[in-house]
Amino acid sequence: SAPLKQDFIRQIVRDDLASGKHTAIKTRFPPEPNGYLHIGHAKAICLDFGIAGEFGGVCNLRLDDTNPAKEDPEYVRAIQDDVNWLGFEWNDLRHASDYFEVLYLAAEKLIRQGDAFVCDLSPEEVQAYRGSFTEPGRNSPNRDRSVEENLDLFRRMRAGEFSDGAKTLRAKIDMSSPNMNLRDPALYRIKHVEHQNTGNEWPIYPMYDFAHSLSDSVEGITHSLCTLEFEDHRPLYDWCVAKVDLPNSPELTQPLVDTGLPREAAVPRQIEFSRLNFNYLVMSKRKLLALVNDKLVDGWDDPRMPTLQGIRRRGYTPGALRLMVDRVGISKQNSLLDISILEGALREDLDTNAQRRLAVLDPVKVILTNVDPSHEETLTFANHPKDESAGSRSVPFARELWIERDDFAEVPPKGFKRLTVGGEVRLRGAGIIRCDEVVRDINGDISELLCTLDLESRPGMEGSHRKVKGTIHWVSAHHAVPAVVHLYDRLFTVANPDTDEDGKTYRDYLNPNSRRTVTAYVEPAAANAAPETHFQFERTGYFVTDRYDHSPEHPVFNRAVELRDSWQG
Ligand code: ATP
Ligand code: MG
Ligand code: MG
Repeated sequence: SAPLKQDFIRQIVRDDLASGKHTAIKTRFPPEPNGYLHIGHAKAICLDFGIAGEFGGVCNLRLDDTNPAKEDPEYVRAIQDDVNWLGFEWNDLRHASDYFEVLYLAAEKLIRQGDAFVCDLSPEEVQAYRGSFTEPGRNSPNRDRSVEENLDLFRRMRAGEFSDGAKTLRAKIDMSSPNMNLRDPALYRIKHVEHQNTGNEWPIYPMYDFAHSLSDSVEGITHSLCTLEFEDHRPLYDWCVAKVDLPNSPELTQPLVDTGLPREAAVPRQIEFSRLNFNYLVMSKRKLLALVNDKLVDGWDDPRMPTLQGIRRRGYTPGALRLMVDRVGISKQNSLLDISILEGALREDLDTNAQRRLAVLDPVKVILTNVDPSHEETLTFANHPKDESAGSRSVPFARELWIERDDFAEVPPKGFKRLTVGGEVRLRGAGIIRCDEVVRDINGDISELLCTLDLESRPGMEGSHRKVKGTIHWVSAHHAVPAVVHLYDRLFTVANPDTDEDGKTYRDYLNPNSRRTVTAYVEPAAANAAPETHFQFERTGYFVTDRYDHSPEHPVFNRAVELRDSWQG
């Protein structure tokens, strides 16, 4: 079994189980369905689901849908697809909106306890009353409203009597707290917007801190993992959980029972970890949305996008992402990681798991003049050099072949180990050839290389062990299948496209060569693959058959990553 993972979060979980604080753990992954998930979210998913699984607990998928104006069911579908793709299964699929009635009752409870009040200040006035890091804030003139008046106003907010922004429900905490989040934060705002789940039922929507903490509590979440920017929201999180006290308030969770959901309330603990950030990428949903809307990429699932839908199409694997997350580890320090960590994890995963195939990306014809035009044979190639269980396949061989244009040089540079006029090279798994003559087309470009196959160097023969300088890949021209191959490269040319310096933004650093499309020739056993099959094309990189566009009749491959890190940005 895998070695025990050691980090501060797993240690907390271990301690809580050992001390009996919890007999079982429960986590959640709480995306807001306002965009597609990206590589950063993969870290949160791997931690939320991974830690629950490791300790015999469960993880809910909760759509944090408290901001209806920006949310869309299209995103909800993609989020579920992404979580499943990464190899995880949720315990329950929930929505923050499942709890709107519970949250509403919780807010009334706070009002009755004198812990919340309805405030008439406009957003600008609230801002002015808030104070600053050096100045305490001032109390709202409405702070001392009676419980009766607050209840009446809050009910009328719910009934839709007031216009957007006319009132808020605010927690009554401490306007001079050094933590700005505790300066009587808003718990509810008025927004007459249709919601994708609750329609027009609610003209008021709960604010993030209130909804998030109580959603955790109501689902019985024990460990609520989130990123560091929520660290100074934790006191408010704890305040909401404690003041509402769902575990001891069955009257508040009755609406759950009425809608067929279980009562599982707990006191959750929020634990923060560092965000995942890589250079050469932008990951903010807002900027990704702009790339899509401005047609700088083909869509959310463009293989150059850092969305999970994008990198999946590019050829990334769940195994590579999990490996990357384990390698990066968990800390309390945000940092910008080098993209080579991500690419390295992919190479490692595909080196182990991707079968090998032959494909020629930039073809030039080789004619084996001493092979009969009608000759055809099938050679047997291992699918994986280090894994016998991957089996073998038949590779057709005949008189006419394609090789890579740059595997031949008429005037070889110093140290050139491939084919030259009069020189020899080994054709991978087929034998040794010598180039006798170059044939040119009318433009003077090389159209054919006339070569001789050493008939004593065929596979299994004594003469095949003869030493020659280089080995190149090839495909049989007659049998090869033309394929559309997208050669992707980084979307940005600079390591930090996200710094808005010198009036420049990430848009100024788009790599004009981030996609090059060629027609390649691939062996039949590559073309015949199902969509989303990963291969190493020998010597040229790791590729995947396109999730949507590939078919054996019209093969389409995406290059996920080159074999080695050759980037020189
Ligand atoms: P963005 O800022 O990109 O819009 P977000 O934090 O608003 O992301 P959510 O949908 O709220 O996106 O995120 C769901 C969960 O994923 C949260 O718990 C959040 O902390 C976590 N998460 C988001 N981005 C990252 C990241 N870069 N690294 C690790 N976890 C992340
Ligand atoms: Mg968020
Ligand atoms: Mg966000």
